[in-house]
Amino acid sequence: MDQARSTRNAALENVTTPTYSLAALDRRITILGSTGSVGCNTLDLIAHARAACNDRREAPVFPIEALTANRRVDLLIEQALEFRPKVAVIADPTLYEPLRAGLEGSDVDAAAGPEALLEAAQRPAEWVMAAIVGAAGLRPTLEAVKRGCLVALANKECLVCAGDLLTREARNSGAELLPVDSEHNAIFQVFAYDQPESVEGLILTASGGPFRDWTQEQMAVATPEQAVAHPNWSMGAKISVDSATLMNKGLELIEACHLFPVPPDKIEIIVHPQSIIHSLVRYIDGSVLAQLGTPDMRTPIASTLAWPERMVAPSPRLNLTEIAELTFEEPDLERFPALSLARESLQTGGGAPTILNAANEVAVQGFLDRRVGFLDIIRIVHHTLEVVCRGQGGLRLDTFEDVNALDEQARAVARARMATLAKS
Ligand code: NDP
Repeated sequence: MDQARSTRNAALENVTTPTYSLAALDRRITILGSTGSVGCNTLDLIAHARAACNDRREAPVFPIEALTANRRVDLLIEQALEFRPKVAVIADPTLYEPLRAGLEGSDVDAAAGPEALLEAAQRPAEWVMAAIVGAAGLRPTLEAVKRGCLVALANKECLVCAGDLLTREARNSGAELLPVDSEHNAIFQVFAYDQPESVEGLILTASGGPFRDWTQEQMAVATPEQAVAHPNWSMGAKISVDSATLMNKGLELIEACHLFPVPPDKIEIIVHPQSIIHSLVRYIDGSVLAQLGTPDMRTPIASTLAWPERMVAPSPRLNLTEIAELTFEEPDLERFPALSLARESLQTGGGAPTILNAANEVAVQGFLDRRVGFLDIIRIVHHTLEVVCRGQGGLRLDTFEDVNALDEQARAVARARMATLAKS
């Protein structure tokens, strides 16, 4: 109590904290997936911090170790020439030559291929943004976690398909997993880690996605363009489709179980179409604490970039009188069965979430490629869980190889189901 009181008194006496003397500004940074939506937002924050510090600091601001991408080589070159990482890595090895040519004459090394991606994650950055989409991000993220650094975790699929493995490695190495997903970041900001027993439960908010009011008939003919047009957030294609099926919230439920010491039956999901309240924590005395903000990923990313300090983020400020109304509703489990599938896979445990995730990745890509319809996504996931889960519920996934083998098995079943549906 004395410490809390003296901290409070010191804060009251010293209200003019210099904004750009943050210790975090010295952090060496690696961004896995720098060309994606989260990656670009992270670089935008770094650009703002660099501009604001300008010549007020001698030391470089957020010096960058590595930037990585999959195929968007032109954007990677552009980012590398502006932000000057030590190395820029393109995962697709066929794109090494254009990357090398684009960086010729600069002080940035070029590298390509899956091994180079792992080496990028192994470099001595103190803060790594894990923003590769899908299970493809698991291995590089694990490499970063094993180094015991700060890992800003945007890639929720990592936790869904290998949550036990990833959190065990983090405990062993001392890595800090900082949640970037806006909901988990909100909980992270208001969760009483010093008194976890005082937490009664969590409330994850969901926007409801672009099809919140659509009928089954309308969703049956939904196009990829309609599915990726999220009403509040601007994000990559895969997570946008996940938001439309509400699988995103299912993945987030599983993610929350790995990040916070709260059992699944104490995690509620409510639809909040305005995406202003990013999530809430219920306490045993009846208090409910929430984090609010405009729907702009730069706010949660900034909270992890400067953690445990805070830095300036250029996100639009919240104007509550302009918003005027915040509404809430129960999710419709009939129209959005993904939520039930995710809860069931948590109950089954073992490899079930890994299977759910793998099948979903295959099905979403199939939908984006116009091979199957929107409603087929969940049909494929359901079928794959039924086929692959049999006898695998209690399966322990102790190593990356265990996870990878099950992931591949599930993908094969999902692809076969997709081929059947595509013909019908
Ligand atoms: P994007 O699709 O916009 O970007 C994905 C990034 O990963 C790109 O840099 C891409 O490279 C790279 N990448 C894709 N596949 C591979 C691969 N096989 N090997 C190596 N790199 C690869 O995704 P988002 O930024 O939207 O999302 C990233 C992660 O963050 C996802 O897990 C998502 O669920 C999560 N997230 C995203 C939010 C958002 O606002 N976007 C919010 C909360 C969580 P390239 O550009 O070359 O294809």
